[in-house]
Amino acid sequence: MKKNHITVWENCLSVIKDNISLQGYKTWFEPIVPVKLKSNVLTIQVPSQFFYEWLEEHYISLLKKTIKREIGTEGRLEYSIVMDTNLRNSKPYTVNFPAKTNNSLKNKSINIPLNVNKNTIKNPFVIPGLKKINVDANLNASYTFENFIEGECNRLARSAGYAVASKPGGTSFNPLLIYGGVGLGKTHLAHSIGIEIKNNNPEKIVLYVSSERFTHQFIDAVKNNETNDFVHFYQMIDVLIIDDIQFLAGKEKTQDVFFHIFNHLHQTGKQIILTSDKAPVDMQGVEQRLLSRFKWGLSADLQSPGLETRIAILKKKMYQDGIELPGDVIEYLAYSITTNVRELEGALISLIAQSSLNKKAVTLDLAKQMIDKFVKNTAREVSIDYIQKVVSDYFNMPVELMKSKTRKREIVQARQISMYFSKKLTKSSLASIGMQCGGKDHATVLHACKTVNNLQDTDKHFRKYITDLDKKLNLS
Ligand code: ADP
Ligand code: MG
Repeated sequence: MKKNHITVWENCLSVIKDNISLQGYKTWFEPIVPVKLKSNVLTIQVPSQFFYEWLEEHYISLLKKTIKREIGTEGRLEYSIVMDTNLRNSKPYTVNFPAKTNNSLKNKSINIPLNVNKNTIKNPFVIPGLKKINVDANLNASYTFENFIEGECNRLARSAGYAVASKPGGTSFNPLLIYGGVGLGKTHLAHSIGIEIKNNNPEKIVLYVSSERFTHQFIDAVKNNETNDFVHFYQMIDVLIIDDIQFLAGKEKTQDVFFHIFNHLHQTGKQIILTSDKAPVDMQGVEQRLLSRFKWGLSADLQSPGLETRIAILKKKMYQDGIELPGDVIEYLAYSITTNVRELEGALISLIAQSSLNKKAVTLDLAKQMIDKFVKNTAREVSIDYIQKVVSDYFNMPVELMKSKTRKREIVQARQISMYFSKKLTKSSLASIGMQCGGKDHATVLHACKTVNNLQDTDKHFRKYITDLDKKLNLS
């Protein structure tokens, strides 16, 4: 009797059933429908892409063995994947991976191509007609590791990035997902990795692309019927850096195509680096199967830089631009702009521009005026850190001493004054002010405020301290 797909698959199943758990069998094999058998190729239909991947990942050797046993050493298996339901109501979508696409099937069938003739692929980055594939990495030469100041806020991400750069594709940080709020250095760090890899391995194809650009290229490719080229081009990259992948949220088709590219690169040991302004758990509108991929590697977050790091970043930037600014101006900038490095740099640049336009020296006053304009909309308040700094400078003592447990009179006084200003100028609670002023409780802060008020009324010298400091701290 001539074998047909049904009997062949039944025979396979009976072998498979004996070799795996019942649970596994029911979950992964019962839903499969044999579709046809033609020239030694058995086609089976699986419910989803995920299903197909799971089979490939967990049962491929068992499948191979049984197929060979049933249809001989030439036997091959092909999957037909039922479209995901969420894609159904949209326009029919096929990624036409050439190799062995089977057009007679209703459902799309996907074959991940392995051998691609590199010379025939269209590069979406170059003008059509150019034969040679020459991928410009798209890297910004100034975004180096050297220029990326290290701090507590970025230590993990930076060193993971460095590890990836020294051994692309060869660490468990694949993909490396860098995430963090705006202006915290995601793009910079991603470029640093690319630059470092390119320096060490000029032959490697490195590519930086924003997800926005990636999306547009894909849309164009679909429009021009060049999806194959698009996919093949990306599958050829050794180190793929995609910036701001949160942009892919809600773009199902782009996610779909990215998923295939991702899988291919990952399987072939290529490095993938992604950035996002959200952690994977918070990425809404990104398909689960993609999110689960992101979790394969390492997610490293970038935090807002601490004061020291902010100062170091400003100094580095000034050094690069050959500018010098008074120390108090730098400190003022670093104290005032706390959450976003891009804003910090922006303030520095505007300050310099201002001063050169008006031919005025950059002074603390100018800095104050400018910063007010610069961060007007962010409802800024002076920070407790800054208050402590100004007060301790005024009394000529180190901040640490002021925050210490000492009962020495001048020190206690300075401490009380900074508590008083913290209460007056910030929205912080008494308890939190106490915490930040050397771990005191709220009653201590309340007492400090009363003492300062009393002394102002009775002590002329003391009153002068307060008026001086008020002026220094008054930011408007
Ligand atoms: P993101 O992509 O997270 O929004 P960027 O990478 O564009 O942020 O960084 C914004 C600016 O801040 C860039 O000019 C970058 O060079 C600078 N920057 C951020 N972090 C650092 C750092 N640790 N050291 C030096 N410059 C930094
Ligand atoms: Mg960015």
